[in-house]
Amino acid sequence: MRLSRYFLPVLKETPSEAQIASHRLMLRAGMIKQQSAGIYSWLPLGFKVLSRIEQIVNEEQQRAGHIPLLMPTLQSADLWRESGRYDAYGDELLRVTDRHKRDMLYGPTNEEMITDIFRSNVNSYKDLPLTLYHIQWKFRDEIRPRFGVMRGREFLMKDGYNFDLTKDAALHAYNRHLVSYLRTYERMGLQAIPMRADSGPIGGDDTHEFLVLADTGESEVFYDSEITDLRFGNRHIDYDSVEECQAVLDEFTSRYARTDETHDEAAFAQIPEERRRTARGIEVGQIFYFGTKYSEPMGATVVGPDGQRTPVHMGSHGIGVSRLVGAIIEANHDDKGIIWPEGVTPFHVGIVNLKQGDASVDSACEALYRELTAQGMEVLYDDRDERAGAKFATMDLIGLPWRITVGPRGLQANKVELTSRRSGESEELSPADVVLRLGQIYQPVFDAAK
Ligand code: ATP
Ligand code: MG
Repeated sequence: MRLSRYFLPVLKETPSEAQIASHRLMLRAGMIKQQSAGIYSWLPLGFKVLSRIEQIVNEEQQRAGHIPLLMPTLQSADLWRESGRYDAYGDELLRVTDRHKRDMLYGPTNEEMITDIFRSNVNSYKDLPLTLYHIQWKFRDEIRPRFGVMRGREFLMKDGYNFDLTKDAALHAYNRHLVSYLRTYERMGLQAIPMRADSGPIGGDDTHEFLVLADTGESEVFYDSEITDLRFGNRHIDYDSVEECQAVLDEFTSRYARTDETHDEAAFAQIPEERRRTARGIEVGQIFYFGTKYSEPMGATVVGPDGQRTPVHMGSHGIGVSRLVGAIIEANHDDKGIIWPEGVTPFHVGIVNLKQGDASVDSACEALYRELTAQGMEVLYDDRDERAGAKFATMDLIGLPWRITVGPRGLQANKVELTSRRSGESEELSPADVVLRLGQIYQPVFDAAK
């Protein structure tokens, strides 16, 4: 993409309404525009990041064997009356009436609808296990929408639902989700720690929230510092293997890590003092086993091997796709702007032309642009007739992890400059070597998608 033809409405001033870095930077970098409280347009740069996150989520869900579908945003109130949640959900539920005076709602989540799809189409235990998911906009009329896309009213969520014959099978689905989430967040350059969370009236310890540590997080968390040393990395997991998935869950949940809802002072005190941590975190996902809570009242049953009908065991599993954009920025920025992890960056590399209109500089930039694009990279080429300082400031603000600077002096020695946004360090390389180097840098990112 040539910057002269792109739509990147960056702001010079720091918007006063934004209280935290990610919100400020998303506004300044021209990623979003607020349309009303907690409701945003995603401008091209923001939309690109959102789409990358969505793609990673899709790839990892499908790797785990989960099947995508798409349910609507508007739902009939009748379904929610069946589960009892139409009244129970309260003011966060946006209720709508159509022209025939039928009660509808803008879905804040989809347990009822997916259960309805299941009961109308699945009859036998032979069709299980089954996990269906979608990535769809949700609406929750939050009392205090704030922090930009972190707590919106309209937000994009991946929500997946497993259907299993037995509790054990459903717990395997739970573990499968935990494993796939670990992979998902790491691909985004995030450490999201599974923490035991509140399961509400259902009881048990079958829910975990995934938290990204950040001072601006809304949740208070307590953990054993050893947990932050764990990495999922590039392991190959057989998602059908009960033992393998269980082993990952055991590894990642064996140390103390809880949100304030389930925090237990006595258990916390057992950890050696130097490893006890109290911090704040951003919830970027949650997994849940809830058994027959919806299948029973809604009649989602299958004929089991014994010929008897039984309600299926279910769980639901969410990832905050749009919140992740903010969470990633909270964890990756400095005073100049955003620093995108390579896995989610809107463009893999930026090219800064220091002397637009100089024939040799222009053609060197064009050649780099072509070669990098041919390698599967998305390139943002700043071909505007602007001062170098302004071009650097824009690149720093929008946070592309790598920048190539091309100027007449360097070119005389067949050199361009490759700069890391994260470390600030630069290297002089020939244009051919820059292409090679970036190919190596991004190889793991492209491999992770396979
Ligand atoms: P919270 O406690 O932050 O209100 P939640 O526990 O009610 O979230 P879930 O029902 O678990 O949310 O939804 C799954 C994921 O969707 C959450 O982990 C979070 O990342 C994201 N999410 C929830 N509410 C919002 C919101 N208002 N804006 C943006 N993302 C949200
Ligand atoms: Mg939650």
